Amino acid sequence: MPLVPCRACGHQVDTSAEACPGCGATNPGRKMSRQQYDLIVLVIQLVVGTAILFIAGNMAWNAVGPIIKQQVNKPANG
Ligand SMILES: [Zn+2]
Repeated sequence: MPLVPCRACGHQVDTSAEACPGCGATNPGRKMSRQQYDLIVLVIQLVVGTAILFIAGNMAWNAVGPIIKQQVNKPANG
């Protein structure tokens, strides 16, 4: 099993270790904690979701916008 420095204290720990024997940090062999990973996934989902909403809204506006402008600019004939 490869040894990696603990992300918290730098103590050499097994990558599969669940806790660092030096400082007690959980999953010391991982580069990021589960909470950090979840947060990054959440942020990515928010960014992607916002981008999709923006693009979909823009496409909808491009499709409907000219029709609305046409209706607004149409001269009223009685
Ligand atoms: Zn440690």
